[in-house]
Amino acid sequence: MSADKPGAAGSGPEHAGSVLQRKASLVDMLDPLSFGDVVDSLGELYRVGIRVLDDRGRTLADAKGSNGDFCGFVNTTAQGRARCTALVSRLNEGPLTPTQGAQVLPGTSPLGGELLGQPCFTGLRYVVLPVQWEGDVLGRVVFGPFAPEELADVPVALAELEGLELERARELLAHVGRQSEHRAVKMLAHVAQVLAALLASGQKAYLTGQLHLEAMLETQRDLEAQNAQLMRLNQRLKEADRIKSSFLGTVSHELRTPLSSIIGYSEMLAEGLVGGLNAEQMQFVRTIIEKGNTLLKLISSILDMSQIEAGKVRLAFEWVDVQELVESALTSVTPQAQRKGLTVKVQLPEAAQPRVVADREKLSQVVVNLLANAVKFTPGGGQVEVRLSAHGPQPGLVGEGYRIEVEDTGVGIPLDQRERIFQSFYQVDDSPTREYGGAGLGLAIVKSYVEGHGGQVSVTSEVGQGSCFRVVLPKEPPLSGQGPAYIPPPIDTDPERF
Ligand code: ADP
Repeated sequence: MSADKPGAAGSGPEHAGSVLQRKASLVDMLDPLSFGDVVDSLGELYRVGIRVLDDRGRTLADAKGSNGDFCGFVNTTAQGRARCTALVSRLNEGPLTPTQGAQVLPGTSPLGGELLGQPCFTGLRYVVLPVQWEGDVLGRVVFGPFAPEELADVPVALAELEGLELERARELLAHVGRQSEHRAVKMLAHVAQVLAALLASGQKAYLTGQLHLEAMLETQRDLEAQNAQLMRLNQRLKEADRIKSSFLGTVSHELRTPLSSIIGYSEMLAEGLVGGLNAEQMQFVRTIIEKGNTLLKLISSILDMSQIEAGKVRLAFEWVDVQELVESALTSVTPQAQRKGLTVKVQLPEAAQPRVVADREKLSQVVVNLLANAVKFTPGGGQVEVRLSAHGPQPGLVGEGYRIEVEDTGVGIPLDQRERIFQSFYQVDDSPTREYGGAGLGLAIVKSYVEGHGGQVSVTSEVGQGSCFRVVLPKEPPLSGQGPAYIPPPIDTDPERF
């Protein structure tokens, strides 16, 4: 396609490899099936063969004329076949110039270029029409062969063919359609008009298709660039997240040591180890111990979470009595529950619970975190209940297992928050004036530890009525037989997390 064509330059995006810069071919612009039908009907109308070829010599349409029997007969002789093959190849692929016996014919074509008359050694004739489109030669139309009106008898060249039965050749020649060259040129001009109209509409469709394709490629290139940018950003966010976890881990570790001393010394003061305290002093020291313990728990959670995110948490599996573990977790929240006036209930299996394989400390922290939340988010007068039960094989779990449920009659959790509360630092109420303390880490730790055991944690809740957290664990975690296992760091799937 030349540079001044619509869409080739100027109207489309200009960069190397643009599909619009490709030279269009006849195959691109013509629908082969319907074009073939059109050429067939023109061939029938004129009783002349019409062959359309592209610039690489590929046939796009081929309507047979009335010469078939005659030419077939000539081709039965070796000489005839050789001369016929040479002529056809010249017609199909030879130069579109008046050489090798071809002559320029008078008349113009709507497709540009000169019409060439080409005689055949049999006395028949062809007319060849170049298909030019906007400066490019896209192919040619070969019209013929037809018998020229002035042909009186078989020419000498044919009569001299070895082995040709001349009378039969004459007979068959009489069946080949006769045309004056003048009429043939007119017919061909008609064919050219039809072809020009088809090319004009085909080009429009082709360009529209190419533009569409170009737009799609452009969109794809944009998307690829955006993807690469997102991947770079993601990488940087991951790095920032890793630095944050490592910073939190280091700071919490450094805070824990002096804080433990503060609590330890305050406890010694409260126990009177360095002399008695009056009531007010005792009250102050108790407040120091209580706030110190709250702070210690917070720092421990931050440290635990940073260890989880760094992939450094190892589960040390051992045989554990879950019943005992649940009862002991309960005692750690009982004083707080009593202070709030909550009823605490426990439901254990009737039969003695068989021992299970777990990391005792981590499993205990799971139950304590859930119970602490239940107590924290349940207003005075409410109820907290913990239930332990065994269950058979479940989808997503390996073998038999057990279930720990912690139910409360507290504030409940809105539906749209139930997934997100398991993310680190996420809290339903994260306003500075929020009523409940905490850092939003307890449930993230629960989820990591439970999944590290091959289990699942879920929640059902009704706002204003209460919540029930359900932990389902296998009796023997899949990896427990292979010694201590590392918990894989959580994969963040929430795009709003950052
Ligand atoms: P924290 O309790 O320190 O805020 P958690 O990760 O344990 O952090 O809990 C995240 C959030 O989930 C809480 O801030 C709270 O909004 C909600 N939540 C957790 N447990 C309960 C519960 N039993 N009842 C109501 N809301 C809860």
